[in-house]
Amino acid sequence: MKIDKERILRRRKHFVDCYTKSIHSNCGVFGIYNHPEAAILTYYGLHALQHRGQEAAGIVTCEYLEDKKKHHFNVHKGTGLVLDVFADELILTEDLKGNSAIGHNRYSTTGASGKRNNIQPFKVNYKDGNLALSHNGNLTNTNYLRNKLSEEGTIFQTTTDSEIILHLIAKSKEKSIEDKLLDAFSQVEGAYSVCILTDEKLIAVRDQYGVRPFVMGSFEDSYIFSSETTALDILNADYIRDVEPGEMIVIDKDAIKNKKPTSIIFKETEKFKHCIFEYIYFSRPDSQIFEEKVDKVRRNIGRNLAIEQPPPDKDNPNDDDEKKVIVINVPDSSNTATLGYFNEAIKTNKNLKHEYGLIRSHYVGRTFIQPGQDNRKLKVKIKFNIVKGVLFNRKVVIVDDSIVRGNTLKLLVELIKKANPKEIHLRITSPPIVSPCYYGMDFPSREELIANQHDGNIEGIRKELDVDSLGYLSLEQLLDAVPYTEKKTDYCTACFSCKYPIAIEDVEHKEKENFED
Ligand code: SF4
Repeated sequence: MKIDKERILRRRKHFVDCYTKSIHSNCGVFGIYNHPEAAILTYYGLHALQHRGQEAAGIVTCEYLEDKKKHHFNVHKGTGLVLDVFADELILTEDLKGNSAIGHNRYSTTGASGKRNNIQPFKVNYKDGNLALSHNGNLTNTNYLRNKLSEEGTIFQTTTDSEIILHLIAKSKEKSIEDKLLDAFSQVEGAYSVCILTDEKLIAVRDQYGVRPFVMGSFEDSYIFSSETTALDILNADYIRDVEPGEMIVIDKDAIKNKKPTSIIFKETEKFKHCIFEYIYFSRPDSQIFEEKVDKVRRNIGRNLAIEQPPPDKDNPNDDDEKKVIVINVPDSSNTATLGYFNEAIKTNKNLKHEYGLIRSHYVGRTFIQPGQDNRKLKVKIKFNIVKGVLFNRKVVIVDDSIVRGNTLKLLVELIKKANPKEIHLRITSPPIVSPCYYGMDFPSREELIANQHDGNIEGIRKELDVDSLGYLSLEQLLDAVPYTEKKTDYCTACFSCKYPIAIEDVEHKEKENFED
């Protein structure tokens, strides 16, 4: 029987979607220079960044062909998880030879998701050699640049914003690759953490606002760039520092020899605008981003929520026979924040207990939807099961990180009610989401957001979710929980506040949103 690999991968993507929120980080990027097993290390790096994009993955390596005395770029990419795309180890050991590599995990925010051409890294061969690029973020002047390049005769292979950067570099009249990049990045606006591979160099570039995280590390005699430190940890690599907002870092043979990469600050800004949602949900809790540990910040966020939205007490706080109120997490995304919430709440309310009332399946299988069956319900049931003995006849406090459309949470509440709890209280470690993201996160439309459907009326949302109480963290307390490690540190909060720190070109959006500058 002929195996339809594409169909299997589409199925796999569907299962992955069952396991993720309706907001998605668009990408994870990774790059390594000067290692004989560059492709294998990139594979592991992408593994550790899988949460940043599950739709497609790819690796490009740079190999020097002794017989031809020239560099050659090898590429392998496909739809699905890193495991799927590189299922055959010969891809890594035979096809992707070379001492430097860049990789990419994709969840599309621009460009048709199913289009194979849109899978990164992108690679071109131009007059000065080979060039490949991996991009995390979203450009905000895409239409302008695309039209300009098209008028100049550029033919686009993809429908993504990231390809524009490659064309700008390839078309630049500057002499050195560094100057070509500076020329290209002087023209783009928006959010970008980018790895660029050339025949001789690995280059990292980050936008001046530092919207998306980006770190530099070292492993043996190699340098690494990655979206998050988890990719360094999996390799036992050392974290050196963050790629600074507005910085370009160049790694070449001299940098390896002198142990000194070249750093160029090419754009400055008054305040950085790190994505605050990275701390709430997107980044892994075992990562360090924006120079702080995500676990620590997420606990702070939970702590502030407990102060602002405390759990209820028992009906009779002095009755030892009445069972304690239980605080549960929605695994895995709210695990850490729940600990912060519980540890703070127990200081003033001894009638609390932290419990595991929801169990998440990590082993996803196929679902066979029968006619008349509710697909969404099935998805939630596959993802979560309830621990009935824990939830029965208890006041239950559920801590979750955010509410987008509210569909999953509604089904989760329905599921929990099957265990006959006494009451259900929802506590959310972020403010209500009211606006889409233009800087690299895939949100549903404004109209689909539950907070907008109720005009921000929390009581209306509570009723729709059918819980006994609902408490969100305020923006003020969220901003109190995140670190300010140096004088320029500040955050983008646009999806909660509608205040967009970077202007976007789309006039329709400009009219709707409130831009800061
Ligand atoms: S709009 Fe929200 S998700 Fe997007 S960068 Fe700003 S804080 Fe992050």
